[in-house]
Amino acid sequence: MSDDNEKTLCAHVADELHVKDPPAYIALIEPATHYCQGCGRSAAKAENVCQPQKLP
Ligand SMILES: [Zn+2]
Repeated sequence: MSDDNEKTLCAHVADELHVKDPPAYIALIEPATHYCQGCGRSAAKAENVCQPQKLP
């Protein structure tokens, strides 16, 4: 896991970081206000994603 700093957000989503380690994923997508726990997309509005999770 030494390549984490160079890994793209797309690659993290492909590895399901948003499911396995939500806090780490959230740190990558801030300042978005919501993200989708289903598909990993970030959004400004909860209604724009299928499994919205509000960022703390
Ligand atoms: Zn989704």
